[in-house]
Amino acid sequence: MAEQNTKTALITGITGQDGAYLAEFLLKKGYKVHGLKRRSSLFNTDRIDHLYQDPHLDNRNFTLHFGDLTDSTNLIRVIQETQPDEIYNLAAQSHVKVSFDTPEYTANADGIGTLRILEAVRLLGMIEKTRIYQASTSELYGLVQAVPQSETTPFYPRSPYAVAKMYGYWITVNYREAYNMYACNGILFNHESPVRGETFVTRKITRAVAKIALGLQDKLYLGNLSAQRDWGHAKDYVEAMWLILQQEKPEDFVIATGVTTTVRDFVRLAFAELGIEIEFSGKGEQEKGVIIDVDEERLAELNIDKSQIKFGQTVVKVDPAYYRPTEVDLLIGDPTKANTKLGWKPKYDLQMLVTDMVQSDLHLMRKEEYLKQGGFQTLNYFE
Ligand code: NDP
Ligand code: GDP
Repeated sequence: MAEQNTKTALITGITGQDGAYLAEFLLKKGYKVHGLKRRSSLFNTDRIDHLYQDPHLDNRNFTLHFGDLTDSTNLIRVIQETQPDEIYNLAAQSHVKVSFDTPEYTANADGIGTLRILEAVRLLGMIEKTRIYQASTSELYGLVQAVPQSETTPFYPRSPYAVAKMYGYWITVNYREAYNMYACNGILFNHESPVRGETFVTRKITRAVAKIALGLQDKLYLGNLSAQRDWGHAKDYVEAMWLILQQEKPEDFVIATGVTTTVRDFVRLAFAELGIEIEFSGKGEQEKGVIIDVDEERLAELNIDKSQIKFGQTVVKVDPAYYRPTEVDLLIGDPTKANTKLGWKPKYDLQMLVTDMVQSDLHLMRKEEYLKQGGFQTLNYFE
């Protein structure tokens, strides 16, 4: 049951991972939710289809609007029409590696896009009414200056994505100070879920692990296995976004778990979830992961055919194509301010996150298995 509320929220990036979880969260709180979605040649609303409401209904509380962060006039129109109490600016070209291929577009959408939202609210005379959340990122810390990283740790961005987000961060602070706007940054460390984009490392791993277990894929190719990330669950993190906008004073907050893990260990945990133990050997580009043990009871419990899983089989290899020109080696956040001022604490730990993602992908890949058995073409991207 939704709570009673008279507030209206506008979410940019509503079709993305966080947009979908946040929309669901705000609808439960009784908000009227508007979302900005991009025109696409195929439907791009998979993550929010369960929230869709027939546009012919009266009293809808979930409405989508076409728009783009690179188009000021459309942002002004949508903000004027929807009159939001809260704007969550989540839209972005959010992939670090892709930002090296599309640096100018990334700067436009992620950097200037933030300015367009702030300016729209200012020009429409809505400063008193509208609070703004800006999706800032732990990628701002980049080259390690100090750990754990907190609100006061200096930034040193290491990708066109991070540099664009650095502009978004500072323009948000500047509009708060210059115009007295209620505008805040959430500096969120990596957060994942079963609907995380398929080319981010955690989801790439959990999909591949499920496919390998079902005999739909042989190997998983990855880049830097030694990178360390502070991974949380998106469900917990969207609650923090909301809390940030409910405070008396606008402030910036780090949102993190405070625990860091290597990509290599995430791979181990993901295989272990299905009862498959793997060991890594070798260094750099020669490193590989090999199956060294199988828990047959666990496989039986999950209804996985053990003949697909071979002792001694190499299931992980390194492909330098996935290395980044400049890497962020270590992220570990200090969420003390969020713990104390917002009363925010994550409910999911890393093991719960891995279980949620691997089990969800196992379920999804069974569909692929049926399609393949039926002679249909299945998706085979490995990016
Ligand atoms: P996703 O990549 O899953 O979603 C991004 C959303 O932005 C999608 O809805 C996408 O639309 C939309 N979008 C992209 N470009 C534009 C544009 N030019 N105009 C309008 N919409 C656009 O990201 P997440 O949900 O994971 O992340 C949400 C935000 O938080 C992003 O800003 C991200 O950079 C930031 N962030 C994420 C972290 C994480 O670990 N997930 C960590 C820290 C910050 P479409 O569906 O059509 O592609
Ligand atoms: P990011 O922290 O926002 O860049 O999130 P990603 O999930 O894309 O990457 C997390 C870390 O995993 C980075 O240090 C990557 O270099 C590393 N990584 C290693 N192999 C891969 C890979 O195949 N794909 C991706 N996306 N990242 C990889």
